Amino acid sequence: MSYEILETLHRLLGPEHVQSGTEAGARYHVDFSHENACVPLAVVRPRTTDDVAVILRTCHAARQRVVVQGGLTGLAGGATPQPGELVLSLERLTGIEELDRTANTMTVQAGTPLQTVQQAAADAGYVFPLDLGARGSCTIGGNIATNAGGNQVIRFGMMRSLVLGLEAVLADGTVVSSMNKMLKNNAGYDLKQLFIGTEGTLGVVTRAVLRLYPQLPSKITALCALHNFDATVELLRSLQTGLGGALSAFEAMWASYFHYVLAHAPGVQSPFDREYPLYALIELEGTADAPDRARLESVLEAAFDADVIADAAIAQSLRESQSFWKIRDSIGEVTPTLQPMLAFDVSLPIDAMASFLAQVEAEFARSTEPVTNLVFGHIGDNNLHLAVTTHRHDGLERLCDTVYCAVGAHGGSISAEHGVGTLRRQYLHHSRSAAELDLMRRLKAALDPHGILNAARVLPE
Ligand SMILES: Cc1cc2nc3c(=O)[nH]c(=O)nc-3n(C[C@H](O)[C@H](O)[C@H](O)COP(=O)(O)OP(=O)(O)OC[C@H]3O[C@@H](n4cnc5c(N)ncnc54)[C@H](O)[C@@H]3O)c2cc1C
Repeated sequence: MSYEILETLHRLLGPEHVQSGTEAGARYHVDFSHENACVPLAVVRPRTTDDVAVILRTCHAARQRVVVQGGLTGLAGGATPQPGELVLSLERLTGIEELDRTANTMTVQAGTPLQTVQQAAADAGYVFPLDLGARGSCTIGGNIATNAGGNQVIRFGMMRSLVLGLEAVLADGTVVSSMNKMLKNNAGYDLKQLFIGTEGTLGVVTRAVLRLYPQLPSKITALCALHNFDATVELLRSLQTGLGGALSAFEAMWASYFHYVLAHAPGVQSPFDREYPLYALIELEGTADAPDRARLESVLEAAFDADVIADAAIAQSLRESQSFWKIRDSIGEVTPTLQPMLAFDVSLPIDAMASFLAQVEAEFARSTEPVTNLVFGHIGDNNLHLAVTTHRHDGLERLCDTVYCAVGAHGGSISAEHGVGTLRRQYLHHSRSAAELDLMRRLKAALDPHGILNAARVLPE
């Protein structure tokens, strides 16, 4: 049966775009989680939406399982093939079709890398505000499928807020084109939502209409030192109200993270001459540097007088701003010193964060092996990252249980940004009720009755 499918796809797409899993190479065998690498049955590389439709129609008829791949920067194992699966790679489905200056939109094909879209927007005087470390490799289709977040969510929202319309191909090959450009459109169900954040389980995204924003000329970065978590939340609130919506980043770093990075990442320096329990990296983007700077100084002065912040440094140059961001961005550089490491990406109501962390720390303290737990996150978006290790391979599952049980107990989400994929699906019940899981299963069965598309992902068995 598999041989017949490959013959058909060879004929339809041309042999150079249908290769066996071994021939295609290791690049297609695993995503950025680097877990459970597997050689797929074959790799197919469509160039058009019609190609995708033909591939899925053929696989649907033959009950052949398919896994969708974008840039393979996902961290949840969702794009990693499982035995016997066919890889549908969108790497040839690339290109910017249109930049509409009246509608402030860009229409792109799903395999286009995020950075290409950002650059095209910048060249035309716009901003496409989704931004994340994997920008050079991740694709717009992958960003949509995972509802990607990143650095500027506090101001512009996640990928969901940046997509006005899209085109998707269902598991049976039906093309659903919903390339809306309008901000308001309540004519029936908003079908694009079926494909945003559903990790390729309900359809393959092939094209999208993205929302653009005007470029802002002024950007100011500051680093604040704080006495405790309550003060950090208070600072966030006063910046949100005092800066008139200009706050574009608020990254909290607990002492565990900040001082570890200072000690282990080359070239990272603190502007402060003593240590504090918490730090917040702040950025605002506005229309004019001098008035924006004056507004920030006045909010920080008031916070200092009210003993909300202990110290603060406002970057005076691009170089200084980059050195503040280097502290936040150095997690990648210290990761090799933390192996084997568990990277948690959880969401919590802000008023539950302190209690959640206290519970996790108390349980880690009872562990027989000392646990290193580096905490940082976009707290304005409810998102905490925990980088956890005991430097041992045994006991990792127990650490996962500790964190995800505490997330469930505090009404949080087991995944803020990276998605569920294959690696987190057994924990989904900590964040979703039985009724929610049942509805997800019914949607999946309705749109993919033979279960061929990204099967055994997201939903627990
Ligand atoms: C250094 C680094 C930093 C990162 N930072 C962030 C961050 O700040 N915020 C964040 O949210 N994520 C982050 N990520 C995770 C990752 O970059 C995002 O999840 C990204 O959106 C994945 O895009 P991709 O094209 O690489 O998708 P892939 O990894 O190829 O696929 C991810 C999932 O989407 C599905 N999929 C891919 N393309 C399509 C499509 N066209 N149609 C349907 N389904 C599809 C796949 O089947 C899979 O389930 C980071 C990753 C790295 C390596």
